[in-house]
Amino acid sequence: MRIDIITLHPELIQSPFSASILKRAIDNKLVEIIVHQLRDYSKDKHKRVDDTQFGGGAGMVMSVLPISSIIDKLCSERIYDEIIYMSPDGARFNQAMANQLSICGNVMILCGHYKGVDQRIRDLYITKEISIGDFVLSGGELPAALVCDAIIRLIPGVLGDETSALTDSFQDGLLAPPVYTRPAEWRGLVVPEVLLSGHAQNIENWRHDQAIKRTKKIRPDLLK
Ligand code: SAH
Repeated sequence: MRIDIITLHPELIQSPFSASILKRAIDNKLVEIIVHQLRDYSKDKHKRVDDTQFGGGAGMVMSVLPISSIIDKLCSERIYDEIIYMSPDGARFNQAMANQLSICGNVMILCGHYKGVDQRIRDLYITKEISIGDFVLSGGELPAALVCDAIIRLIPGVLGDETSALTDSFQDGLLAPPVYTRPAEWRGLVVPEVLLSGHAQNIENWRHDQAIKRTKKIRPDLLK
């Protein structure tokens, strides 16, 4: 998979890809992340990429020309399955969207800043608008990194044990059951006996039961 990220602040998006699982995925060529500096596509002599709002009001708007210039260039080079704009008024990101995006070949992500991008960019190019929650951040870089992480860990071969992504929360509409490791007893707290029994079916039943209990308690909305 190839992910192109368009941003005014490439430095904000480097570190999530420079350690751990995401770095390994890149090193192993399971995913390619290309970060583009939008300012490089400004024809303005001061490299401006924003302007005041028509109609007045506080806050700058990201201009159409630099954005259309880079999107046109990328689209002339390959076909994109999705051109995503990170935006608080987009569809709320969830595991189902991550699953769907993880099977794409080429994805482009546009990060907004200031008041966001000129609406005509959204109308003309954007195929998916994604929000990471009902709050407003100062830029789309952290949301884009978050979406990339959720997608990349689902690509086959990225996680050491491929089945582990399938047993995470939300994959089956439930929260994940509790997990334990050694020592089996700590400060008088003991690990549930069934997990030490070695009986695969009983363990699976227990985990399913715990997942339902936990979901009922913390996220009953998921069971509807
Ligand atoms: N004026 C906009 C907010 C702009 S915030 C509004 O009121 O809806 C600046 C940029 O940060 C946005 O263009 C977007 O790319 C990013 N951003 C902020 N909050 C976000 C969120 N919850 N989810 C995804 N992107 C977000």
